[in-house]
Amino acid sequence: MARKGIVAIAVPVVLSALLTAGVAPARSQGAAQSPIDITPSSIRFDTHLPPLLISYGHHAAGDLHYVRKDAAASDGCAVRDHEETEEFEVEPGAGHVTLSGVRYDLVQFHFHTPSEHRFAGHADPLEMHLVHRSAAGALLVIGVPLRVGAPSTVDKVLSHLAPECGEEVHFADIDLNTLLPVNRATARYTGSLTTAPFTEGVQWFLMGEKTVTQATVSRFQSLFYAGNARPVQPLNGRTVQLELPHI
Ligand SMILES: [Zn+2]
Repeated sequence: MARKGIVAIAVPVVLSALLTAGVAPARSQGAAQSPIDITPSSIRFDTHLPPLLISYGHHAAGDLHYVRKDAAASDGCAVRDHEETEEFEVEPGAGHVTLSGVRYDLVQFHFHTPSEHRFAGHADPLEMHLVHRSAAGALLVIGVPLRVGAPSTVDKVLSHLAPECGEEVHFADIDLNTLLPVNRATARYTGSLTTAPFTEGVQWFLMGEKTVTQATVSRFQSLFYAGNARPVQPLNGRTVQLELPHI
């Protein structure tokens, strides 16, 4: 009888903890939020976009660590918050991009499951976000959808996931160039961070798919078993500039 009573009390407590910690609805703070679903009607072709010049090191060091959002919770080490992720902090100076004469340094890259951006409703198993910041603090993010296929550098990065409460994983030699697909044409739009505080004014550059092995997808998805992707947000009249390849 006593055991049954404890269970009856414990279940609602666990449920309410899940509802408040794990699946809280994402707050929209503006009209230009990310991610988005890139629909055919939102696309504008443009042959005069300023080139995104990518300068990534071939031998970069860095650390993969777990980004915690529930450190205050007593069970935080075991519970996956939907805004948590695995993040590779790149050593300063290892990579940057230049757009219209402004330099944006690569700070970190991290992962979401399933992909946050959609293309005509289609989602991939994972999406990688490479976050760059200018000296003035402007943010530029390159998004790369990841699907199952041939192994790539991403498999190397995600071969040992950092635990939520434990040691980070050090890498001495990562070729940042091979994180990106060979075709570097981009789809561009202005949006926001996809985690709190959802800051707007982020310049998004979405590239074509890169491949990773099924083992890597499964490893990441078994850690973030409930997913760590924000739902797509309304376009609110925004358009997506699609870069045509220079021939
Ligand atoms: Zn992200």
